[in-house]
Amino acid sequence: MPVIFIGHGSPMNMVQDNSYTRDLARLAGSIPRPEAILVISAHWLTRGSFVTGNDRPETIHDFYGFPKELYEVKYPSPGAPELAETIARTVPKGSVKTSLEWGFDHASYAVLRHMYPSADIPVLEMSLDYMFDDPRPRPLEYHYKLARELAFLREKKVLILGSGNIVHNLGMIDFEDVEAEPFKWAAEFDKWVKKNLVKGDHESLFDPGKAGEAGELSVPSLDHYLPMIYAIGLKKKDEALTFTHEGIQNGSISMRCFRIG
Ligand code: ZN
Repeated sequence: MPVIFIGHGSPMNMVQDNSYTRDLARLAGSIPRPEAILVISAHWLTRGSFVTGNDRPETIHDFYGFPKELYEVKYPSPGAPELAETIARTVPKGSVKTSLEWGFDHASYAVLRHMYPSADIPVLEMSLDYMFDDPRPRPLEYHYKLARELAFLREKKVLILGSGNIVHNLGMIDFEDVEAEPFKWAAEFDKWVKKNLVKGDHESLFDPGKAGEAGELSVPSLDHYLPMIYAIGLKKKDEALTFTHEGIQNGSISMRCFRIG
């Protein structure tokens, strides 16, 4: 099963039809139907790592000030409690636990409703061991190595989907204009990441600061960047990496998506 990284961007995309959402549908059509989907979510931040163990996960509307229709969106896919238990058992040293305290946040269903609109494939989410106020966050290599422990899921036909954004600066966002001219630093950093993805230089990607000010502005916190680190952590040496969508929305959000394998 391939591994994919999706830039999810503004929640508005969940109710829109644009080149990005059409590319999501196309991507889903080009990969084998998964037995289950594991979404590594930029919007579930915890101390320690968790996977959702619910039978029937709730749709969580974790965004504020958007039109009413977004709050009516439901994504009724079943959960995958047994698979959650298998993950908790298989990943070493109890580093991933199951949780009943979460459901589907918009990092999963805003994307999945374009990919799998019938919502009939079991879905579980995995959190990021990362907090905004963490004085000493885990190094990015930690997440990269943890991702590798999930590789067995690919053999079980589980689609692993990192959902975040390579460039994500909400302080600079142009909420009004989805097609706003991209900031120079946003375009620069997006290109820098693309270059390193193509080269397979994952080391460089562990430190967005290596791209200078463009990196600092594009990754003001790690929450949306980390799901990409999980995706590349799962890449085998000889596997192809293909970009399935490129573009910058709202001036400061990279919508770049890619598949591995
Ligand atoms: Zn987000």
